[in-house]
Amino acid sequence: MLDLTGIAVVDNHCHPVLLKQHMDAVQFRSYFSEASHPSFAEQHVAHTVYYLWMLRQMATFYGCQPIEEDILFARNRLDTDSLIERLLRAANIDTLIFDPAYPLPDECYSPERLGQLGHCRATKMLRLETLMQRLILNYTDFDELVEHYVMELTNVRERGYCAFKSIVAYRTGLNIAEWSKDEALASFNEASAQAKRQGWLRIAHKPLIDYLLHIAFQQAAMQGLPVQFHTGYGDTDTDMRLGNPLHLRPILQRSDYQSMPVVLLHESYPYTQLAAYLAAVYPNAYLDLSYTIPFVDRIEMVAFTRQALSVAPASKLMYSTDGINVPEMHWAGALRARSVIAQVLDEMIDADEINEEQAYQLARQVLHDTAYTVYRL
Ligand SMILES: [Zn+2]
Repeated sequence: MLDLTGIAVVDNHCHPVLLKQHMDAVQFRSYFSEASHPSFAEQHVAHTVYYLWMLRQMATFYGCQPIEEDILFARNRLDTDSLIERLLRAANIDTLIFDPAYPLPDECYSPERLGQLGHCRATKMLRLETLMQRLILNYTDFDELVEHYVMELTNVRERGYCAFKSIVAYRTGLNIAEWSKDEALASFNEASAQAKRQGWLRIAHKPLIDYLLHIAFQQAAMQGLPVQFHTGYGDTDTDMRLGNPLHLRPILQRSDYQSMPVVLLHESYPYTQLAAYLAAVYPNAYLDLSYTIPFVDRIEMVAFTRQALSVAPASKLMYSTDGINVPEMHWAGALRARSVIAQVLDEMIDADEINEEQAYQLARQVLHDTAYTVYRL
């Protein structure tokens, strides 16, 4: 059995954890579902295979009975800093790359502090739609908005970001089109009026988002900066039909975007085979393999890992957790990924596809090396 415990992971997509970690069972469970309806935390999460597995891992870690009440009692007894520190250290993490736009930053540990607690590097990405929303609230003139938008997207590495992130799959879909400036302006006027009426904005105005995304892609291409796209499985906000990564073909093909690495997040589940195909044929397409969210069981994780490694080069694959809210996610994802990747590579050794040394090298690429290259760590 391949032993990957010595490989320190680069978690190329995760979120901060909450300042308030002491919580009851319903709150804890609510973080283990993409459903927002309260019936899931109350009635269903405790009956999912992922959650049952997680409880067993936690019972071992906290040294208590594998009963939800005892486990939460054991974790809530720890002070929050040491809870986070113990879990992150046990995960053996080299670098955490955060999307700090969610949950709200004032409810969370900062990426810097999490890096200190994890004894690892912490860096972050800039979420484009959040920036768009803020600027639409601030500027009533479209040209002025575009000017400030470009300013905030310039030299972003110097400002501590190593990537852009887009959640357009959650808003208007990955079928990002090209619109004229007049069409974008009309769409902006609608968004702006709505923002003024409400005092806040959830941007879902297709010509406007698409137009501003193309400006960001030009900036990313100039800076050789990766853009992460949410793809596939998400909460009920997303229309999964438009979360299919095949919609990104026009972006992947544009000759002026070739220096912009495109990272397809969350193994594009359940479109993993299609996403692995994209990573196998487009030089700038990369596939993220996320081992906490989506919340699927080990058998399904083995399946998506096998699909990815069977189709795409390991130099196009990157590990993540998508961990969020509670530090158990960042920890469990690392344990799980090492063990699942080892199982799949062992199968490939048994099938006489590769030898042990090659298997270890492929694992190193997925868990660590590819992200170092893509994000220039
Ligand atoms: Zn995420």
